[in-house]
Amino acid sequence: MLEHATWRTVRDTQYAVAVLPWGATEAHNYHLPYGTDNIEAAHVAAEAARRAWDAGARVVVLPVVPFGVNTGQLDIKLCLNMNPSTQAALLTDIAHSLEAQGISKLVIVNSHGGNDFRQMIRELQPTCGVFICTVNWWNCVDSKPYFDEPGDHAGELETSVMMSIAPELVRPLSEAGGGHARKFKVQGLRDGWAWAPRQWTKISDDTGTGNPANAMAEKGERFLDAVTERISGLIVELAAANLDDMYE
Ligand SMILES: [Zn+2]
Repeated sequence: MLEHATWRTVRDTQYAVAVLPWGATEAHNYHLPYGTDNIEAAHVAAEAARRAWDAGARVVVLPVVPFGVNTGQLDIKLCLNMNPSTQAALLTDIAHSLEAQGISKLVIVNSHGGNDFRQMIRELQPTCGVFICTVNWWNCVDSKPYFDEPGDHAGELETSVMMSIAPELVRPLSEAGGGHARKFKVQGLRDGWAWAPRQWTKISDDTGTGNPANAMAEKGERFLDAVTERISGLIVELAAANLDDMYE
């Protein structure tokens, strides 16, 4: 954890992989805090890295980036938008810092649905010697076996995860809205094969999309165990990988 490390440790450790947790600051229904995505990203990154370290990978977790793409939520008080172009500039600076310091692999642990780093990585990769990949922690494992109805924003999955890692910040579920999300009227958009960003205040009355009613800490804990195990495996493999020999 870079935020907890001191110079002597950092100077004397040969890090193979850096992990960058990336969240957002936004409303999460009435029962979860604005920092939900950041708390999740930091937790998943730290736990995955801890497991990877124990398996021999030299990995460092960078501080969480707390601002996500929230252009669809600009009319929700204190949802703090960071545009994709700003995120790309930030990512570029971080990657070039690591490159100059001899750390050649970077894993982004993304926690926010509005963030999409793939195109940024495509643009950045030809000018940067750091190998960069991105993981959305909430869908790197199939969530269906773990939840009745995983839901999306502040739904059963996300609420269960927060109950497991930060119960003191979760309000009683009796205060939560139902998280009902209105769908597009245009069929292709409703079915998902056509895509456009959603205007959040038009689709949700409580800022949630997904019903948190059946959330339980135990569900979140079991799911997180699978998620962090899988991401730690990625870190371990990546740490050992030869960047000149990445393909079968
Ligand atoms: Zn969230």
